Amino acid sequence: MSEELNQFKVIEGGGKPKPYRKRVRGQSEPLICKCGSAASVEVRLGRMIRDGKPEGGTKQIRCADCGTVLI
Ligand SMILES: [Zn+2]
Repeated sequence: MSEELNQFKVIEGGGKPKPYRKRVRGQSEPLICKCGSAASVEVRLGRMIRDGKPEGGTKQIRCADCGTVLI
């Protein structure tokens, strides 16, 4: 019995993955890049197109000046 338990050892999962950016819920804050620019552009990665209409993809917000991924 104990040998079987050892064979199928359950590994306890760690904590939840930390969010990329800590945010205060319900409160807006300016999105400023580390380079100091407050200008940002929204891009989508891996966007698909169906019947001439774009769909899906991963939204990404980048700094308009240096191109650093902000969100
Ligand atoms: Zn920047």
